[in-house]
Amino acid sequence: MTSQAWLPIFRAIAAEIRATIPPLAGTPAAREEVGLGAGGDRTIYLDRLAEDIVVRHLELAYRSGLRFRLISEELGERDFGGDTLVLADPLDGSFNAKMGLPYFSVVLAVTQGGDRFSDVRLGYVQNLVTGDEYHAVAGAGAFHQDEPLHPVPPAFDGKSIPLVQFDAPSGVEPRERAAPIFARAEKVRQLGSAALNLCHTAAGGIALQVTPGPVRSFDLAGPLLILREAGGIATDFGGGPIDSVSVRLDARTTLLASLSRQIHAYALELVRVRVS
Ligand SMILES: [Mg+2]
Repeated sequence: MTSQAWLPIFRAIAAEIRATIPPLAGTPAAREEVGLGAGGDRTIYLDRLAEDIVVRHLELAYRSGLRFRLISEELGERDFGGDTLVLADPLDGSFNAKMGLPYFSVVLAVTQGGDRFSDVRLGYVQNLVTGDEYHAVAGAGAFHQDEPLHPVPPAFDGKSIPLVQFDAPSGVEPRERAAPIFARAEKVRQLGSAALNLCHTAAGGIALQVTPGPVRSFDLAGPLLILREAGGIATDFGGGPIDSVSVRLDARTTLLASLSRQIHAYALELVRVRVS
């Protein structure tokens, strides 16, 4: 079975999560904590609900003959009899969903032949509020709403970056590391769904994605394929390659990503000046 054959399954999962989660976003029930996820974050009721949908669809897929191993944010790893990894972040941007802020997504991916970023064959992200869908197939391109994505690279005048999207856990240190970039940013955002942020980086709306402190790589695996297939570039915050970063729940990476090689190189230069 090719990785692309997972696409209809992912769409069915996304459709059911989209029908279930947004009506509950921002309600008292949405804010209820129900435990600690395998990924280390607190699980809220909405995470659990979305993951139950993923598991139900994958059990059906298993019964229809597919063999794979699920890695999902809350439950961890579950063996369905095969080596292909199916990665699921059933609700990315949980905190936004909990608070009723309309920017959250479902993120799904398939790897073949290993557990590194470079082994991802299919990446799928759906904005659960708007229904906007991004996906990519390794070697076959990136798609928005099932149409080939032909992004317009963000404008760059050689000295200022139009829009920087910043991700970091709380704390001053990652902000200090990103400060030289902020100083050259026309706008700075911290939107709250790492997967959607990378899709918008792939589409050119976000000129630079900046993640100076280590974050879970698992959430980034599918979205990074979308960026790469759209023609974008991603490295760690120091400019090092990330292809061999593990997609498993315990792995971490920093990130610097853009559709524009010029903007990415410029950001690296700004950070390096600061380091030296
Ligand atoms: Mg999540």
